[in-house]
Amino acid sequence: MTECDQTLIYDHPVRMIRVAVACGLAGILASCSISAAPNESAPPTADVSPQPIAVSKVKPRTIRHGPRSVNRVAITLDADYSPSAAEHVDNGTYPRQVNTAAIKFLEESKTPATVFVTGMWAQKYSEYLQRLARNPIFELGNHTWNHDAWTRTCYGLPYVGSEEAKRDGLQKTNQVVKDLTGKTLFYARLPGLCHTKSDDQLIASEGLQSVNMDVSTTDAFATNAQEVAKGMLKQAKPGSIFLMHLNGAPNAPVTAEILRILVQGLKAKGLEPVTLEALLQK
Ligand SMILES: [Zn+2]
Repeated sequence: MTECDQTLIYDHPVRMIRVAVACGLAGILASCSISAAPNESAPPTADVSPQPIAVSKVKPRTIRHGPRSVNRVAITLDADYSPSAAEHVDNGTYPRQVNTAAIKFLEESKTPATVFVTGMWAQKYSEYLQRLARNPIFELGNHTWNHDAWTRTCYGLPYVGSEEAKRDGLQKTNQVVKDLTGKTLFYARLPGLCHTKSDDQLIASEGLQSVNMDVSTTDAFATNAQEVAKGMLKQAKPGSIFLMHLNGAPNAPVTAEILRILVQGLKAKGLEPVTLEALLQK
């Protein structure tokens, strides 16, 4: 292990960049075997833009909430898309799987939120992905490639099949988002929240931090926004992580209405919505 390998361990993109700055670019170039910017005599051999340089040391665990000592909470929305959903969209039995009213509400009210995207969703709805990526109130996370479950029994979702497929799905989604937005994802959430301890290890080894939630009321299949928002507000406390969906009908048809009531209620409780990164910062 080089000196830089020891120093440039990161568990968070922001911290990683800070450490890189502290290490000094010259030191990184010298001891991490990364080539310097191209000159006339030497062709470019590597990209020196900020990115994970050493082996990731994300803690293998799933985060369910943030600190209880600060009046902040995180609204998170999963952008599901699967081969089955794609079939429905293609044959016209599902509408576009983007809740534009929810996006518009968050944009207009300037409410920060973290959106976990499946790679399939990112690819299919790239203009919405890019719209989210351009706006600093939004943070993006990884929700696997095609929304297959990581355990054999998980709300009837198809099983992903192998460890290799799990890894490929995370990597493919990271890559598609990177290609379309330039963003490097750090947080990951598994479909149906179904996973085992060894999955935590796998996710961490991909440089991703697994995140669930601690507010069990969600928007999935809800029809009464008032009732769902009331349930969420009842459970809300400092550090809470809310889970909703950005697909719209038919699986999450009233998310925009829930958000409107929830955000107003959080304000009344003195709880400020922030991104996961802001909630979980040390
Ligand atoms: Zn999902």
